[in-house]
Amino acid sequence: MKNIKFSPGREENNLSSMQAIKEECGVETAKCYQCGKCSAGCPVAFAMDLTPRQIIRLLQWGLAEDALKSKTIWLCAGCQTCTVRCPQEVDIAKVMESLRISAKRQGYIGDKKIDLFHRLFLKSVERNGRVHEMGLIVGANLLGFEPLKDVEFGLPMLSKGKITPLPHRIKNIEEVKKIFANVRKKGGKV
Ligand code: SF4
Ligand code: SF4
Repeated sequence: MKNIKFSPGREENNLSSMQAIKEECGVETAKCYQCGKCSAGCPVAFAMDLTPRQIIRLLQWGLAEDALKSKTIWLCAGCQTCTVRCPQEVDIAKVMESLRISAKRQGYIGDKKIDLFHRLFLKSVERNGRVHEMGLIVGANLLGFEPLKDVEFGLPMLSKGKITPLPHRIKNIEEVKKIFANVRKKGGKV
């Protein structure tokens, strides 16, 4: 896959920016007419440095590097509210995912804690076939140098059996491992 990285200011760059996104994930950002419905419905927009609509605009202007450096792409929860609301059928959630992958490849990590969380989440899924919440929380706290973070929530959840100290591994875990191996073979960082 190509890296999404462009210089601003010229029409051909704008076109190549949108073209690269199309090649990367098949989404036509040129169709966006900036109505803002995606941003209005995004549950995380309040915390983002750029709204989903602005991210798409940057791509239309050939300013993909600014999008890659934003916190927004790391805060996006992939809930797809924007995608289902878009009147132009622009799959914004997919664009966010592509930008995250490309940003990581190029060393732009807007939020190290979220990147750590992503890595631990995937590791847990690879190991168990599903996420082990307690392992994820403990790992994120220890590697993020906040060992006691949210401990006041964790202990009651543990005592009520909402989280478990040991992971539950799914049957056919080998199938999941094959998926991860295939992604790595194609150059994916998981
Ligand atoms: S909802 Fe769709 S058309 Fe409207 S701003 Fe967002 S991406 Fe563009
Ligand atoms: S997929 Fe991401 S950008 Fe879209 S609404 Fe959900 S959190 Fe917001």
